[in-house]
Amino acid sequence: MDQATADRVHMRAALDQALNAQTVGEVPVGAVIVRDGRVLATGFNQPIGSHDPTAHAEIQAIRAAALALGNYRLVGCELYVTLEPCAMCTGAILHSRIGRVVFGARDPKTGAAGSVVDLFAEPRLNHHCELIEGVLAPECGRLLSDFFRARRAAPGGAADVGGSGLGIGPGSPG
Ligand code: ZN
Repeated sequence: MDQATADRVHMRAALDQALNAQTVGEVPVGAVIVRDGRVLATGFNQPIGSHDPTAHAEIQAIRAAALALGNYRLVGCELYVTLEPCAMCTGAILHSRIGRVVFGARDPKTGAAGSVVDLFAEPRLNHHCELIEGVLAPECGRLLSDFFRARRAAPGGAADVGGSGLGIGPGSPG
């Protein structure tokens, strides 16, 4: 399997995680961490249900992967996430020493991989990782735009969107 094919396969796994988030009423963002070509850990966005503003998909997956490895350094790992990481998650990615990040849709409101800021390109930070964007971006973005459209259509839904736990909201992304 070549790299582009592997990236699509693993992004599909991240999309499955995003659906898990949607199922429990959270903004649909999902992540998986891959090592040696195999999924090591998964996570999905769940800040509302867990009363935890840090419970983004990437953080959930990073915590699970570190527990699985028994190591706070995720050396040799790749992270796939359906939405561009925010500043908090990018910080966790860099601290964990993940070597490669692949994301799907851009997040024009909180994206820290080029949309709002680009922490991945900051030369003063002491760790750098490979960054790939746009893998299955239409699918990743459609999941989010459909979610927010349904929320707006629901009674009282529009007023609730601001409390989604992510910076993204109506009209973004996709
Ligand atoms: Zn985040």
